[in-house]
Amino acid sequence: MKTIFEISREGKRAVTFAPLTVEEYKFDEALERKEDLVLPAVAEVDLVRHYMALSKRAFGVDDGFYPLGSCTMKYNPKVNEEVASLEQFTMVHPKQDNDSIQGSLELMSDLSGALCEITGMDAITLQPCAGAHGEYTGLQLIKAYHKDRGDDKRVKIIVPDSAHGTNPASAVMAGFQVVSVKSNDEKGVDLEDLKNVVGEDTAALMLTNPTTLGLFEKNIEKISEIVHNAGGLLYYDGANLNAVMGVVRPGDMGFDVVHLNLHKTFSTPHGGGGPGSGPVGCKAALKKFLPNPVIVKNGEKYEFVNSEKSIGKVTGNYGNFGVMVKALAYIYTLGGEGLKNASQTAVLNANYLKAGLEDLYPTEEGRHCMHEFVCSLQKLKDETGVSAMDIAKSMIDGRIHPPTMYFPLIVHEALMFEPTETENKATLDNAIELLRGLYKKAFENPEELHSAPHTGQIKRPDDVRAARNPILK
Ligand SMILES: *Cc1c(COP(=O)(O)O)cnc(C)c1O
Repeated sequence: MKTIFEISREGKRAVTFAPLTVEEYKFDEALERKEDLVLPAVAEVDLVRHYMALSKRAFGVDDGFYPLGSCTMKYNPKVNEEVASLEQFTMVHPKQDNDSIQGSLELMSDLSGALCEITGMDAITLQPCAGAHGEYTGLQLIKAYHKDRGDDKRVKIIVPDSAHGTNPASAVMAGFQVVSVKSNDEKGVDLEDLKNVVGEDTAALMLTNPTTLGLFEKNIEKISEIVHNAGGLLYYDGANLNAVMGVVRPGDMGFDVVHLNLHKTFSTPHGGGGPGSGPVGCKAALKKFLPNPVIVKNGEKYEFVNSEKSIGKVTGNYGNFGVMVKALAYIYTLGGEGLKNASQTAVLNANYLKAGLEDLYPTEEGRHCMHEFVCSLQKLKDETGVSAMDIAKSMIDGRIHPPTMYFPLIVHEALMFEPTETENKATLDNAIELLRGLYKKAFENPEELHSAPHTGQIKRPDDVRAARNPILK
């Protein structure tokens, strides 16, 4: 398919301007562009067909089942998009006078309150624009907390070996050293190993609960005690909140800092490079370090307040406002009971899918999962040569988006499924049937799986080259 620039033809236009009825304004010459802007010139009909064709080559949540583990690709109600598209929200300018944006400030303040309630935190910043950005911000809060107490020895962040890759990366970005803690047989944190690595140099432990394997860390209270007794803090990677909303709160589990991914759990799709939002909540002891400014209600008026001890701003202005509007609309639509129901259904769906596949696609732990589960295809590969990659690519031909593959690294030939709560039984049954069929085919006709997908727009891209030599424009 050609790019919009390749179909460009001199003189074509998709817009017609009304005749000028006012006097022409001459800009200061210094402000004038010296060369013409390189813009594609296409007629409206070609423009529409180009983007329509492009959209049909993609696969999104609105096209079909998208069980991409650790990404919570659920269906997002369109009403929330509509609310976020209201001109009263889209036309607000961040530099506007406070008096003229009281409604927007109220919205951000209400969202902050709701997220504090959901997570059990005392204060929150909405500034970070992604999960990893939230991790970085949260770790800066932890750094500021220790520094403010004159405790300079705390330079290490403990991260379990099952952690999401962003955790150790963010810790390094924030200037910490990463210490890995081993998993036990139940794929939780090994308490003995934790006792060995924790100490006077521990700034914090970063933990996802449920973990990236979709398992609830049952020892969380013991872990919290060990880390706190050593003077460290607990950081909660809340990107997997979809499993626990309204059921348990990180604040009650002993966590001091948490980030959420509004672009997973709260009605904005994750991935695709769109705007995200990774709010960071904290306990009262860390509040004064939050990025400036925070919104405070003073009498009837919402105001921006700056704290002297703040770690500073972490983004331009206040973060991705549109994502916040969608999140609050979603929370208000569902209410407390609805959010709890969403999480419980997400867990039920994951267990239904797991039960339908487990004899062929085994998980290592074999116990009930939370919102997602990871199975290993090592045995299938040993017996047939068909890999997790081959199965994932073959799913494209069945019009199901492949799950997350080869992650977490502690599971060989891993496939990680997260069906989410928005899928019905028929969709899950269809996925089970497709995957069981592919398993059978691995023995009968492995070649067909090695060369899949047969219908996709792209077959097997060289992903090593894509990573080593990215062409980003
Ligand atoms: C998605 C995810 C992240 C990172 O979020 P981004 O918005 O992609 O930066 C971090 N931790 C976990 C467990 C995740 O699933």
